[in-house]
Amino acid sequence: MNAAMLGLPNTIHALLFDLDGVLTQTAKVHGVAWKEMFDAYLRERDGDSFTPFDPRRDYDTFVDGKPRLDGTRSFLQSRGIELPEGHDDDPPGTHTLRGLSNAKNDLVLKLIHDRGVEVYDGSVRYVHAARAAKLPCAVVSSSANCEDVLRAASIHDLFDAIVDGVVAKRDGLKGKPAPDTFLAGAAALGIAPANAAVFEDALAGVAAGRAGDFGYVVGVDRVGQAEALHTHGADVVVEDLDELTNGTTPPEAKA
Ligand SMILES: [Mg+2]
Repeated sequence: MNAAMLGLPNTIHALLFDLDGVLTQTAKVHGVAWKEMFDAYLRERDGDSFTPFDPRRDYDTFVDGKPRLDGTRSFLQSRGIELPEGHDDDPPGTHTLRGLSNAKNDLVLKLIHDRGVEVYDGSVRYVHAARAAKLPCAVVSSSANCEDVLRAASIHDLFDAIVDGVVAKRDGLKGKPAPDTFLAGAAALGIAPANAAVFEDALAGVAAGRAGDFGYVVGVDRVGQAEALHTHGADVVVEDLDELTNGTTPPEAKA
């Protein structure tokens, strides 16, 4: 087993996986929480005639894959709404960027607690195959709850490094679509970006892969946005990572 058998160019020596939507089925949970939080706020602001958060278009364009605070700011900007940033400890639902973000996080934690965390089996099989091929693997996620989610899904031990929202905040790393967190993931594995592959389901995530000049960017299409993943930076788009190991011709390294 080597990189080619994983459907990757043979120049790839390490793998960097997004969490929500790539390894775990938590992207849905995030979508539900974002919608509940934004709709509650918009209803308070505009009354019952408010225009609801679109769980497809608004989610994919403004919040998916980004750090929580950036997601809140980005969607509100799209509606021409500017709120003060507020403080870390603003009570959930306070009309500040941090207060609304805290409400969203509480909803996510409650949903994860109530529903548990489901993995994508094809992704877990793929990570096992990568480990069998002696390719180091890291998780690179904007989520501040990354470690909890990995443990809840019982896949924590599969990864050699974790760069999550907690690490990003500690080290002052810019969130996706900036490449900083993926670059930190490659550095944690001791591998140059050109020799690392990025696995992402979010438009902001594949854009981060492209911005960091990574050796290969795999877009994982869970919601029928293959074309947008390509235009934002994916070298290949699959619906499940199993497709990569089933392929017959390994891709060429990028020039
Ligand atoms: Mg994701």
